[in-house]
Amino acid sequence: MAKSTMWAAVVTEYGKPLQIREMAVPEPGPGELLIKLETCGVCHSDLDVRNGSTAPANPKFPLVLGHEGVGRVVKRGVGCSLIEEGMRVGLPWMHDTCGQCRECLTGYESFCTRHRGHGFSVDGGFAEFAIVKELYTAVIPDELTSVEAAPLLCAGVTAYGGLLKAELAPGKVCVIFGCGGLGQYAIQLAKASGATVIAVEANEQKLTLARRLGADHALPANAETGARIRALGGADACLNFAPSNKVWPAILEAVNARAWIISVAQVPEPVQLNLEWLLYTGARITGTSVGSRQELRDLLRLAVDLKLKLNIETVSLRQADEALDRLARGQVEGRLVIDFTKH
Ligand SMILES: [Zn+2]
Ligand SMILES: [Zn+2]
Repeated sequence: MAKSTMWAAVVTEYGKPLQIREMAVPEPGPGELLIKLETCGVCHSDLDVRNGSTAPANPKFPLVLGHEGVGRVVKRGVGCSLIEEGMRVGLPWMHDTCGQCRECLTGYESFCTRHRGHGFSVDGGFAEFAIVKELYTAVIPDELTSVEAAPLLCAGVTAYGGLLKAELAPGKVCVIFGCGGLGQYAIQLAKASGATVIAVEANEQKLTLARRLGADHALPANAETGARIRALGGADACLNFAPSNKVWPAILEAVNARAWIISVAQVPEPVQLNLEWLLYTGARITGTSVGSRQELRDLLRLAVDLKLKLNIETVSLRQADEALDRLARGQVEGRLVIDFTKH
């Protein structure tokens, strides 16, 4: 007989530790798939949701966190026709979007103001079972293990989505600020574009890792950073993965004319912007958030072809809350991934 209950790590109230609860296994509705999770990555946004610093207009409690899940389809709702039972699929950030707005219809669906997020406005992947929509999931290539694939579903596609906006090519210089999980993916993907890659990071171990992942230059984050980038030819694209506004002066000093400045990390503190400087440099400032479904599919393929690497440490579902605390303290080198075979 199929299991009727499951263990899940849930938010019961913002600002409180996650609770491990036994809950009913959800039933897939029309167009939905029930998946049995094998892994789920732990993202910095999960921490923001637990703390309540990021919240939907109408929060639901208890809420199962998690938006980097990988699992096998165990049941299909009516109307599913593309994905078979037994296939391994992803539970990404986007549960669904409105499918009707300009953003949805022109390739920018991650900016749909009516999109629903897993582990945010609907239940996510910190549970033994979860629901994904057939049209919003992605099949995981056989070459990737479920542990390797999990962080691609948010960290990976976010890094990739940001780089796609940076117009990288051979001869261009791309600076990656912050070399945690997303930055580590970004270094490898930027390198594959043929650009020269400069990594900037305060933590010495992460700088060593950045070099190993292919960064042409790895610079410590300090008052000299901007000048050192200028000495290397200046930046044609700066992507900020560091959760701090302290990198802003270095970015302003580093950029070449018409450079891209792309905000990826969630930084709530403001920065100063001189409009005359903007006029004379023609710098282009934008932000990025996850990626479209097609970008996710492309990234999963690229992860296989480029053999994308990430420093991953696995934990059990029961360690989910502790994993968030470690993220809050900055004690994670790459990515933590919940492995559901661990107890
Ligand atoms: Zn995330
Ligand atoms: Zn929309």
